[in-house]
Amino acid sequence: MAKPRDKKAQKEAALERVKELFKQAAGIAPKNMARANRYVALARKMAMRYNAKIPASLQRKFCKHCYHYLVPGVNLRVRTHLGKVVYYCKDCKKHMRFVVKKKTTVKKK
Ligand SMILES: [Zn+2]
Repeated sequence: MAKPRDKKAQKEAALERVKELFKQAAGIAPKNMARANRYVALARKMAMRYNAKIPASLQRKFCKHCYHYLVPGVNLRVRTHLGKVVYYCKDCKKHMRFVVKKKTTVKKK
């Protein structure tokens, strides 16, 4: 039988690696987009292998459709529309929407 492994520690290590990869992607991004995209691919692979969630702050740094690393003004357009932030990926020409305001529990009259 396989040796029991510390899955929690593995997950944490994977997340550290994911963060490191995004840091490297950010460092190289405007100059070498192909390399930045590769780092995103590696980070996603790493997260998937250990069933770890990529932090919300990093989720916004790549396109959820084509998984390209996003740099505002280069391959990303950011707009607000109806209380949402709309990210438009110029590589695959698709949108991502993020909610800005949390719904408050105001009673309607
Ligand atoms: Zn895209």
